[in-house]
Amino acid sequence: MKIKGTCRRCGREFLVEQVIRNGGRCPWDGKPFQADYAVVLVDSLRDAEAAGNTLENALEKVADIEPEFVLDIDSVIARIRDHLERLERGHGT
Ligand SMILES: [Zn+2]
Repeated sequence: MKIKGTCRRCGREFLVEQVIRNGGRCPWDGKPFQADYAVVLVDSLRDAEAAGNTLENALEKVADIEPEFVLDIDSVIARIRDHLERLERGHGT
């Protein structure tokens, strides 16, 4: 999964994998995205990429074998969307 983001400081887009490689710093301005929790940030971004890949691949397989059911889309996406929207709204929410 190629998760993309935008730096709140310099406004430039990046791939999460660039931030992981860069130890939690913006690949453009070089400053840490979260100076106090850089390790937690990098670990969590790595987990999100890996888990995203696993989820994508698993759902692709399920769809490929065409089982006799449908899956509730919100049950897969809603809470993920909630966290991303909280991140988008910013600090203190
Ligand atoms: Zn930046």
